[in-house]
Amino acid sequence: MEFCPKCGSLLLPQENEGKFSLICRKCGFIKDSFDHNSYRFNEAVKPRNAIVVADIEGKIDLLPKINAACKKCGNFEAYWWMQQTRAADEPETRFYRCTKCGFTWREFS
Ligand SMILES: [Zn+2]
Ligand SMILES: [Zn+2]
Repeated sequence: MEFCPKCGSLLLPQENEGKFSLICRKCGFIKDSFDHNSYRFNEAVKPRNAIVVADIEGKIDLLPKINAACKKCGNFEAYWWMQQTRAADEPETRFYRCTKCGFTWREFS
């Protein structure tokens, strides 16, 4: 366990695009390098509410929303979900769909 040097809160492990870091929920402090062996990474560190779906039609209302800018209409809210691409050994890709106009795009890393 590690604690925030700024405010003393417990740092929580977080995964972002395959990279692990420790974050402080209280003040936003981020520590990028730490002893990975002292943490067990499992489902709990994946983004919350991540839904892996092959076909989202009819399920769009179940998807979580985030703030993301739609390139088409400028709306700033989108549904998002994880979807396995064609090759089964590829990692899941994050997709977004504008809540206003329905424009769908995938996250490019
Ligand atoms: Zn802190
Ligand atoms: Zn839109």
